[in-house]
Amino acid sequence: MKYDYLIVGAGLYGAVFARQMTDAGRRCLVIDKRAHIGGNSYTRSAGEIQVHVYGPHIFHTARKEIWDYASRFTEFNHFRTEPVANYKGQLYNLPFNMNTFHQMWEVITPAEAQAEIERQRAELNGREPSNLEEQAISLVGRDIYERLIKGYTQKQWGRPCTELPAFIIRRLPVRFRYDNNYFNDPYQGIPVHGYTAMAERLLEGIEVRLETDYLEHREELRSLAKNLVYTGTIDGYFGFKLGTLEYRSLRFETDTLPYVDNYQGIAIMNFTDAETPYTRIIEHKHFTFSECRGTVITREYSSTWKPGDEPYYPVNDAKNQALYERYKELASREEGVIFGGRLGEYRYYNMDEVIARALEEASRQTEK
Ligand code: FAD
Repeated sequence: MKYDYLIVGAGLYGAVFARQMTDAGRRCLVIDKRAHIGGNSYTRSAGEIQVHVYGPHIFHTARKEIWDYASRFTEFNHFRTEPVANYKGQLYNLPFNMNTFHQMWEVITPAEAQAEIERQRAELNGREPSNLEEQAISLVGRDIYERLIKGYTQKQWGRPCTELPAFIIRRLPVRFRYDNNYFNDPYQGIPVHGYTAMAERLLEGIEVRLETDYLEHREELRSLAKNLVYTGTIDGYFGFKLGTLEYRSLRFETDTLPYVDNYQGIAIMNFTDAETPYTRIIEHKHFTFSECRGTVITREYSSTWKPGDEPYYPVNDAKNQALYERYKELASREEGVIFGGRLGEYRYYNMDEVIARALEEASRQTEK
């Protein structure tokens, strides 16, 4: 056999795993069915602008060792995401914090904001929330629910909040400080030259074959390596024989505007009313503070997923989770196959978590 590891998927999981194993002296081949490396964090260059093709990606972590690891392959800038919600032309800062409460109610102090939320929550009369609408009201009151949660959530899930289960929003981050920094993590940034350049560095000196679907050339590819690392969908690997795991999908509409230098003044603007069909607009140049001529914007739409669509967010409800457990059981019986990453483990992972998982698996393999 020519390789020790055949790695299916050139996303972050596959690239980090391949880097570690290659550095440990193992022979790796990485394949991807797409025409590019980087998986969903892939960025396409449009002149100076790095376009986040599969949705905006902000690197953030609380773990210094993961930040240091990633920094070996890229320089990060000091970008912090401070998204703005646009509700019918009125702007509110996110996440919910003292700026939002001031914009909503003109309150100044945390005590005033807390009292207003408390007053609005009272409409539930201490009743246990029975759906997402009631859950949101019990956490932040009706005004914030109506303007910042209702329409957005309905667009995201394709159903009214009264028909969605309460558990989807068990908690809502509420800050009684004037602080718009979306993530609490101390390490945050965007690769100065884009995520694709970071993936290139990770995969330096490693053989990569693009536009190669493992499932279409299974026998031939499997015979090339002793071990297989699979970062595609776990149900797809097994030919969907137990049923299909469900996802929420996204649709992106990207426009290049050569004569507009600054379209919205911020990287991410959420549209929280139900009537605007998209959930947010991304203006990519602001991720890297670019002042170049022209701009590129993307309207992001949430969409119902059907088999064959790009899978984005796993729907980890009881039904899908139970099905995943059955696939996981099948997976544990596959000799020499590791299932990893967001699709292989049917789990939403942030990039830092996926890097951590790949590093852990690589150390397990090198200790063998
Ligand atoms: P992927 O990046 O999906 O890579 C898997 C690769 O496997 C793909 O390239 C695919 O083409 C390939 N593949 C699948 N099946 C086959 C096959 N049969 N044959 C060959 N190749 C195959 N994380 C953050 O930390 N910050 C963010 O701001 C953030 N924003 C996000 C926004 C959106 C809209 C989404 C959906 C995710 C976001 N994430 C974010 C999460 C991030 O995208 C994931 O953590 C990361 O992509 C996971 O890497 P992965 O290698 O597991 O999967």
